[in-house]
Amino acid sequence: MKVKTIMANLEAKHPGEKEYLQAVKEVLETIEKEYNKHPEFEAAKIVERIVEPDRIFTFRVTWVDDKGEVQTNLGYRVQYNAALGIYKGGLRFHPAVNVSMLKFLGFEQIFKNSLTNLPLGGGKGGADFDPTGKSDAEIMRFCQAFMRELWRNIGPDLDSPAGDVGVGGREIGYLYGAYKTLAREHSTGALTGKSYGWGGSLIRPEATGFGAIYYVDRMVQEKGESLKGKKIALSGFGNVAWGAATKATELGAKVVAISGPDGVCELPKGIDKEMIDYMLVMRDSRRNKVKDMADKFPAKAKFTAGKKAWSVKCDIAMPCAFQNEMAEEDAKQLIKNGVKYVAEVSNMGCQPGAIAAFQAKKIPFGPGKAVNAGGVATSGLEICQNAGHINWTAPEVDAKLHKIMNDIYDMCVEHGKEAKGYINYVKGANIAGFMRVAKAMLAQGII
Ligand code: GLU
Repeated sequence: MKVKTIMANLEAKHPGEKEYLQAVKEVLETIEKEYNKHPEFEAAKIVERIVEPDRIFTFRVTWVDDKGEVQTNLGYRVQYNAALGIYKGGLRFHPAVNVSMLKFLGFEQIFKNSLTNLPLGGGKGGADFDPTGKSDAEIMRFCQAFMRELWRNIGPDLDSPAGDVGVGGREIGYLYGAYKTLAREHSTGALTGKSYGWGGSLIRPEATGFGAIYYVDRMVQEKGESLKGKKIALSGFGNVAWGAATKATELGAKVVAISGPDGVCELPKGIDKEMIDYMLVMRDSRRNKVKDMADKFPAKAKFTAGKKAWSVKCDIAMPCAFQNEMAEEDAKQLIKNGVKYVAEVSNMGCQPGAIAAFQAKKIPFGPGKAVNAGGVATSGLEICQNAGHINWTAPEVDAKLHKIMNDIYDMCVEHGKEAKGYINYVKGANIAGFMRVAKAMLAQGII
């Protein structure tokens, strides 16, 4: 394959789908050399096939708000690739959701899910619905209206959505309630991220953040260092940042900054248990303001409006909020302040210029699809428990998650080691993730 030719064709076919084109380009550029060693891939046109989703559903979601007004949103499900297993990936509720965003997320999900070594294909979905400021009843009505359309296209042996930005345990509850009513069956494997007690897995809420810290722990150990005493700056205060803050603190690191759309909270003494618990209150309030942390704990947190977490001096930077949230200027600021490791937890959290800046300085950079794979891996474990009608204990799930993250880390090193020992984790993750899918597609014929 020639990346330039493929990208030129895709740009002509999908003009304006910026995030999708960005994600495809990064993967193809990093696998090109390896791919071209396999004439059988080229003969079966694996790349030309894998960049296009199997199918995309787009549907109208109409619901009634608390004032009695009729609202209409757009809902989507991208079923991207099922070579390794059922379509699997989250649902995102955010006003900026569109086809390009969900195609980029679905494409990334194929390789992330492959890295977990579980039988999971890739998919993604969501709606341009903004949960900010919505009441509980509005969220429930929206979820029910969304599922009225989606339910026929999902199922435990077909496609199993989960949460993502704007979709947490509460939304999954409403979505599942609607699903089981419409489908007239209790197919727990049709959605993951369910609550414990009706099919949910212990540790699923923590999994993305815990997994990310397990991965970072290995990056730090690779350099002969330890997480103890390391200063970490996180963006966001949702489920992912909460899980990461919990595990980082437990392992002796200090979370010195969290941020939101309104600004940054500096935590000079590090985050403590009370503040970690408060992150959940902030998330559930749907106010989307990190300033609430400083208002609640004025002696421990200092809020600055309009600044990002990347302005705070730290050893480890972990974007946990949204795609492209870290720009090249942010990376340069972090480098100036002496950052030693960067791990993307949000999908495509760093812009290409930011990644290039870290790599040029040989700063270890972990890409989202490897660092954040613990979430979907634990969803895979949830499906296993549902299928076997069993509940594993929290330590059992945590041990399996830890092992999966260690295996992912090892694969990234195996495929990402460059001359002079620098580990290009981006390349490692893309090659390792891609190879498994490509081999499965080859074995399954031209279809
Ligand atoms: N949305 C999460 C992700 O980006 C979780 C997906 C899942 O559990 O299916 O991987």
